[in-house]
Amino acid sequence: MSLIFDLHRPGQTGLRLLGPDATAEATDLPAHLRREQPPALPEVSEPEVVRHYTRRSRENFSIDTAFYPLGSCTMKHNPKINDVVASLPGFAQLHPHAAEGDCQGALELMHRLEAALSEITGMAAVSLQPAAGASGELTAMLMVRAYHAARGERRTTVLIPDSAHGTNPASAHLAGFTIAEIPSAADGRIDLAELRRAVNHDTAAMMVTNPNTLGVFETEIQAAAEILHDGGGLLYMDGANLNAILGKVRPGDMGFDLVHLNLHKTFSTPHGGGGPGAGPVAVTAALAPFLPGPRVARSADGYRWAHDDHAIGRVHGFAGNFGVLVRAYAYIRTLGAAGLTQVSDQAVLNANYLQAMIGDALPLAFASPFLHECVLTAKELAKRHHVTALDLAKRLIDHGVHPPTIYFPLIAPEALMVEPTETESKATLDAAAAAFRAIVREALESPASLHEAPHTTALSRLDETRAARHPVLVEPLTPAAP
Ligand SMILES: *Cc1c(COP(=O)(O)O)cnc(C)c1O
Repeated sequence: MSLIFDLHRPGQTGLRLLGPDATAEATDLPAHLRREQPPALPEVSEPEVVRHYTRRSRENFSIDTAFYPLGSCTMKHNPKINDVVASLPGFAQLHPHAAEGDCQGALELMHRLEAALSEITGMAAVSLQPAAGASGELTAMLMVRAYHAARGERRTTVLIPDSAHGTNPASAHLAGFTIAEIPSAADGRIDLAELRRAVNHDTAAMMVTNPNTLGVFETEIQAAAEILHDGGGLLYMDGANLNAILGKVRPGDMGFDLVHLNLHKTFSTPHGGGGPGAGPVAVTAALAPFLPGPRVARSADGYRWAHDDHAIGRVHGFAGNFGVLVRAYAYIRTLGAAGLTQVSDQAVLNANYLQAMIGDALPLAFASPFLHECVLTAKELAKRHHVTALDLAKRLIDHGVHPPTIYFPLIAPEALMVEPTETESKATLDAAAAAFRAIVREALESPASLHEAPHTTALSRLDETRAARHPVLVEPLTPAAP
């Protein structure tokens, strides 16, 4: 595999930034800002650049090329029409400093999206600012702190079940809280007896994912909310798994006070490539004054930015990741209430179908009914045949299936977390099930070949820590002569 730097040949050129005779002196740049040496960039022709990056892109796995059952990530097909809508010049080329009178359409879209997300979550108010799930969590935790402070209370602990996503404790810690872990019961759900023991005058909030990271619905969530509220704490929902319950049950009705949504999981923004996301936070009326501002308000003569005194401040520049908001709005309007409910119906059916097709080869880690994703375990294979969840995941790549999430949640040994999503056909699920079964058979018959997998990719097993510990970001080149 070559880097673009390997194609460097002095004198080759793809484009000219300045005229042939231009020098640094000919520009308006002040002398102290000018480079002394030309940058060490590779010199390559335009077709070489195009071919290089096209080749590289074809080595990537993507939702546009194959099945991608990466649990917890909701890697579903996102309708391309929503990209087209977000690319309309009126949205895409709108200047972030545009005067209110010149961007009424964009403000109206955000106002309407807030209303739609309020309805979907059963909450009173929404901020669209946070940039992703984790930043929604942090925003919510800062609001929890401000809420208690406004009531003259100092509460320093946030409770988090041991099945939680790692961002939950990280966000609570970043907001200045101490974390107390709640052990799960044998069925993978929150243990209410443990929760009762843990809640006290120091409890600021509990963070819960529902359905949780095993895909299991917390059936006693209202009782959990009561325990929290009786103790003066708040209940926060990590809404990353909203795909499972869209149109079925609402966080507000379950007793939650705050929830974040991942628009880049549930609401039609592709993710996984490091692009922008959005993690709006929806809250009850009691918490609405603490939302970050400014938010869009509607008045007699149109829409405007409204600033609120109690707000925790800004958590993102301008209007957040606006293009993501446009996609979400277009998606919600296209599907409507009936379509969104069908999303969760189909997501749950697909997960349960796929598990039924592979369950005798790879058992569930927790034998509880699950919704849109399930956690399988390779514990026995690892013990008896020295084939781990990692080996199975790597071998799936050779069958054209993206590996599921592995070794998460932490409470499941040798975990493979499978989330097919609602957008996959029965034929795709059948092919994936056949791949899973073939690999487990191979693990029993000739485990050695699995330890070397994948066999069909440009690179096979990578050293998982070397890239982080010894990054080589750029091959040094000799700078071109000035
Ligand atoms: C994805 C995810 C998050 C974090 O969301 P980001 O948008 O990646 O920051 C948090 N919790 C759960 C359960 C998730 O699946």
